[in-house]
Amino acid sequence: MEKSRLEKMKISETLLSLNILKKQNLMLGDSLLHLDNLLYLHKSISLLDYNEIKSVLVEKLPHILSIRFFTLFLYDKNRKSLKLNCHNHPDLKDDLVIQLDESGIMRDALVNGRYILETDFFRSKYFAGKKNPLYQNAFFVCIPLMIENEIIGVLNLNDNAKGFFTVGDLDFVLNVTEFLSLSISNALLFEKVETLSVTDGLTGLNNHQQMLHLLNAEFVRSHRYGSPLSLAMMDVDHFKKVNDTYGHQKGDEILMQVAAVLKTACRVNDIAARYGGEEFVLVLPETKLQGAFQIAERVRQEFSVCRFQHNGKEFAVTLSAGVAEFDRQGMDRPTQLIKVADQALYKAKETGRNKTVLGALDGDSTT
Ligand code: GH3
Ligand code: MG
Ligand code: MG
Repeated sequence: MEKSRLEKMKISETLLSLNILKKQNLMLGDSLLHLDNLLYLHKSISLLDYNEIKSVLVEKLPHILSIRFFTLFLYDKNRKSLKLNCHNHPDLKDDLVIQLDESGIMRDALVNGRYILETDFFRSKYFAGKKNPLYQNAFFVCIPLMIENEIIGVLNLNDNAKGFFTVGDLDFVLNVTEFLSLSISNALLFEKVETLSVTDGLTGLNNHQQMLHLLNAEFVRSHRYGSPLSLAMMDVDHFKKVNDTYGHQKGDEILMQVAAVLKTACRVNDIAARYGGEEFVLVLPETKLQGAFQIAERVRQEFSVCRFQHNGKEFAVTLSAGVAEFDRQGMDRPTQLIKVADQALYKAKETGRNKTVLGALDGDSTT
């Protein structure tokens, strides 16, 4: 072989090796950067507070994943719906809820438990409707968030800032979503345990313990500032008979309806609680006896017009209430407020039920 050809070959070989080395170096650099980002994100989102996780995601996720927009939906298994939970879209409502069937791409990703990558979403079979002018390109990755085989939600990534997305990028994104799922599920579990300890499982109202705790705080505040404070105690009429006639499940449904009426009657600072069994309490800050009476009456009346079904027949249920106002001279403990309301409730029962009675410290209640 001629000397010059040999040299040429050697040079091109060297150039090739150089190129490979450069490429490997680049890839290594990318991997190191990915690893660094991964470690950073891992550290920041391994927090138990879900709100903190959310703010880290909004702040860091677009940069780390090289995308412009993301949405994270949580999946509600019972309702088959997706609730927007965390995002950086300027034009999406925070409380957006969509049914699984309304989004083909999210439904398919969740049902198959696999990510879907569309580099040109607007030409994909999932595109249904109008283009969002916000997006600069049509890049869309939809990744189910799963723990073991349980779906917890879905992460959508839009607009790839780099303009391209390599296999390495995708791999990195999938790694991120794996520990993202874990952190979110841990945080949600923690929140659930915390909520369970203060909430009644059937009605979602405050439980007895939590009501006492909140009442105590209101009692102290009322004592200190001289602001009025009232309490209404309510009890479903002849509930034992309702259970015996229609069954416990129907009974539970009725209790949930009482809770629903109480929730709508509540103002921002009012506290609705399930006191026990079929007894409920409303703690009403900044409210005098007459105001409490009106609120209790509204609840009683609204509940009395509710209709329940059993074997094709309708029936109604009533409740009785007793209300009491905090008396600064005569009461030094919150339980006294409960006691007076309870006495009034007893009187409502005694004098015919389906009514509200005003309580008095001396026990001389009036309707
Ligand atoms: P009154 O009008 O005097 O209040 O009569 P009542 O039958 O409502 O009162 P009583 O205290 O005799 O009965 C309350 C019933 O509430 C008995 C109990 O089985 C039922 N109960 C308590 N908790 C629940 C519950 O979580 N679900 C259902 N379905 N029933 C419950
Ligand atoms: Mg009772
Ligand atoms: Mg009862």
